[in-house]
Amino acid sequence: GTAQIGVTGLAVMGRNLARNFARNGLTVALHNRTQARTDALVEEFGEEGAFVPTGSAEEFVAALERPRRLVVMVKAGEPTDAVIEEFAPLLEDGDVIIDGGNAHFEDTRRRERELRERGIHFVGAGISGGEEGALNGPSIMPGGSAESYESLGPLLERIAAKAPDGTPCVSHVGPDGAGHFVKMVHNGIEYADMQLIGEAYHLLRSVAGYSPAKIAETFRGWNEGRLDSYLIEITAQVLAHTDAATGEPFVDVVADQAEQKGTGRWTVQIALDLGVPVSGIAEAVFARSLSGHAGLREASRSLPGPTAQPLDEAEAARFADRVEQALYASKIVSYTQGFHMIRAGSEAYDWDVDLGAVASLWRAGCIIRAAFLDRIRAAYDAQPGLPSLLGDKEFAAEIGAAQDDWREVVATSARQGVPAPGFAAALSYYDALRADRLPAALTQGQRDYFGAHTYRRTDRDGVFHTLWGGDRSEVSAD
Ligand code: NDP
Repeated sequence: GTAQIGVTGLAVMGRNLARNFARNGLTVALHNRTQARTDALVEEFGEEGAFVPTGSAEEFVAALERPRRLVVMVKAGEPTDAVIEEFAPLLEDGDVIIDGGNAHFEDTRRRERELRERGIHFVGAGISGGEEGALNGPSIMPGGSAESYESLGPLLERIAAKAPDGTPCVSHVGPDGAGHFVKMVHNGIEYADMQLIGEAYHLLRSVAGYSPAKIAETFRGWNEGRLDSYLIEITAQVLAHTDAATGEPFVDVVADQAEQKGTGRWTVQIALDLGVPVSGIAEAVFARSLSGHAGLREASRSLPGPTAQPLDEAEAARFADRVEQALYASKIVSYTQGFHMIRAGSEAYDWDVDLGAVASLWRAGCIIRAAFLDRIRAAYDAQPGLPSLLGDKEFAAEIGAAQDDWREVVATSARQGVPAPGFAAALSYYDALRADRLPAALTQGQRDYFGAHTYRRTDRDGVFHTLWGGDRSEVSAD
């Protein structure tokens, strides 16, 4: 075969990835279960580069040069297993299957193990950036063996997004499921970022009394500064959009029930298993589910709330500045939690993930791309073992400078009855980490009282139990 890479699964994502490879000078073999998609691609975009359309699995495999590299871009879940089963028997030692779908990393671990036993490299690659990114440069998070990355890396580097300094947004994340794990956390952070931006909007609307157009303008201003990011940019555009049918702000005619495809939920489920507090991501997932409980919300509408306290223009402007501080501080916290989760996953599964490299490959192409990620990379480059992003001097200083405003915004949200679970959870996380003593000591006392679960002491080694039902003397429980 002559094709350097093949793509099977030519719906939006696969089609755009195939075009991206071809536009970058690679010969691309094409395959899809329903051949009409393959033909349509060649018909419409054949001029863009060198495509080798194929009809059968055998033809597709024969079109590839060795070691064969085939990208599977089909519906995640069972279809991915079905496609792997179709191709694996046709492959030889050293060939590489790349799954670019949104697979659960545990599925990727299983598939990698099964294929490794058959001599085939399996690379679960997280791909972010949606349709647009797939065509013009996504952020790519490949897992799998280091050996497979040697043959695959140079091809992926050609199609990946380029960070402002020219570096391609792709690097080998780690073995087996590491790439899909990191993609999952990326999506979790994306949920948290969106929730925080949503809360900022809600507060500016309800407390400052700003119109959607005015908030769009405010966000455009923020986007010139440290919050410069894709999500702030598109938020300004969504808020500035007017509904053609009614002439109302678009955001006012959309049903306020958020949907989800599940990667945010996975992040929280896995974080619970790993014991990592990703409270910001959890609040974002719960906020979406709460919004969907239409009946419950309707039945709760008459519950009492505080009286509104309108702000004058100067107060509103001051409040908007405070919201920017709260948003930035909360964002630092949600990235701190996300990176903590990647570190924990890396330790649990022995992946040795380089956190600075992860920040680096999120700098362009993906949904959470932001100027901010350069700062995170710099923090890990300076201190690769940094246990928490909050331990970085610059982030700590920025949060320190933001904290008064952040507290004021959370207090205002409570006083005025505007929900801000993301801001509040982030602040509580920050204060819990700062605290000299936590009520966890009391929790231990309660557990010892009702379940003889024992406790440790601050002044002596050992494990102890108090005889709560007896004379309340303390016994050693070592
Ligand atoms: P879809 O998830 O809609 O999947 C459609 C493709 O899967 C078609 O090519 C279809 O073939 C093929 N397919 C489905 N079932 C089977 C099967 N049993 N055997 C063989 N082929 C099958 O396509 P998308 O392009 O939206 O997404 C592809 C993958 O990329 C998914 O895993 C998705 O989660 C992921 N992804 C999507 C993003 C997005 O923005 N859409 C972003 C990042 C990742 P046929 O034409 O014959 O029906």
